[in-house]
Amino acid sequence: MSESTALGGVPVTELVERFGTPLYVYDGATITDRYRQLRERLHPAVRMFYSLKANPNISVCALLHSLGASAEVSSLTELVTAERAGVPAEDIMFLGPGKSRTELTACLKGEVTLICESFGELALIDELAAELGTTARVVLRVNPSFAVKGSGLTMGGKPRQFGIDETALLAESDLAGRHPSVRLRGFQAYLGTRFLSEAMIAENTARILDLAERLGRHLAVDLEVVDVGGGLGVAYFAGEQDLDIAALTDQLNPVFAAFHARHPQTALVMELGRYLVGHSGTYAVQVRYVKESMGERFAVADGGTNHHMAAVGIGSFVKRNFPMRLLNRDSTAEPVKWNVTGPLCTPNDTIGKAVELPGDLRPGDVVGVDRSGAYGPTASPVHFLSHGYPAEVLIHQGEPRLVRSRDDVESMLAAQILHDFR
Ligand SMILES: *Cc1c(COP(=O)(O)O)cnc(C)c1O
Repeated sequence: MSESTALGGVPVTELVERFGTPLYVYDGATITDRYRQLRERLHPAVRMFYSLKANPNISVCALLHSLGASAEVSSLTELVTAERAGVPAEDIMFLGPGKSRTELTACLKGEVTLICESFGELALIDELAAELGTTARVVLRVNPSFAVKGSGLTMGGKPRQFGIDETALLAESDLAGRHPSVRLRGFQAYLGTRFLSEAMIAENTARILDLAERLGRHLAVDLEVVDVGGGLGVAYFAGEQDLDIAALTDQLNPVFAAFHARHPQTALVMELGRYLVGHSGTYAVQVRYVKESMGERFAVADGGTNHHMAAVGIGSFVKRNFPMRLLNRDSTAEPVKWNVTGPLCTPNDTIGKAVELPGDLRPGDVVGVDRSGAYGPTASPVHFLSHGYPAEVLIHQGEPRLVRSRDDVESMLAAQILHDFR
């Protein structure tokens, strides 16, 4: 067995035999490494929150919780996922622009901190908390006036459904007084995702801390929490480079330290999704047919964009390939260009375009898409053509464990209701 035909130390042929394909494999050791790399270097006043959105698998969440991560959730199911994974309420924050009464009530009953995204939501939180005879723990999400560069998805300095405009907060005088059942704990801002520049992340963080300080002063909020977002990137495409965590913390820590010296009681928070889980995952598909069409080679596999929409290109119209490789055997054949496609009836179902794979690629081979631990099946149209969710396996201490079973015909049809029209 060579390094290139194993995942997390387990031979791919064994994984495929046991769990079938298409399959997501998450290497717990990689998740652990990523968490520790940052934790060991990051300023101790900064708490690391795992954004479940990136990979909401309950065992992935439990693993990160066991390492010490808190949880940031954005739906009732994510909240219950974090709770069942063992994360205590005081270590959970709930964020999202369209929270329901049910979600707000669940947070209030469980004393989960709410990251509030609008004045309307704040009024509803106050009303619901009063009805429940409790005090809501609220962090205000701010849409800053400044814009930032360096992210695939820019927040700040733009009209957005997220957060409350900085200018609107600065126009408020007695926000706390008008919401007696709310305890304003601090501020949050999230400036985008896929940042790959250490300097940009440090600069954004400094600006958010400065913003929180100004808003805290203006609104007389005791800063219990300042959440500086995150958006730490993962290099996927040619020409991109992973963040250097030592360089990042070298630039970030002085920023945190200066703030911490002025506000020793304030808990600082970083939200981390992609950074923690992105590298750990491989999407493995089995080639069913190989064919040629008008001079191009196609490997038609049993899974595609229905499980891995991100491979189509994240926030970019130019299709770029994730790192891909042959997983089940070593091949000495010359690499040639292949289009790796899935089972959907659309030409867009291409997870690798002109990607270099061995010339002798053949039916039965297993092809892997690396760096696929974040925004995988959960962010893909898994129900398209009724193929359903793939199986997910988490390798922990060398032992592969099924952490989500594959959908089948019965599970796919279970929620549908057949009426008799005869
Ligand atoms: C999506 C999201 C995250 C996680 O982002 P990553 O880029 O995956 O780290 C964190 N916070 C907020 C507000 C988000 O919307």
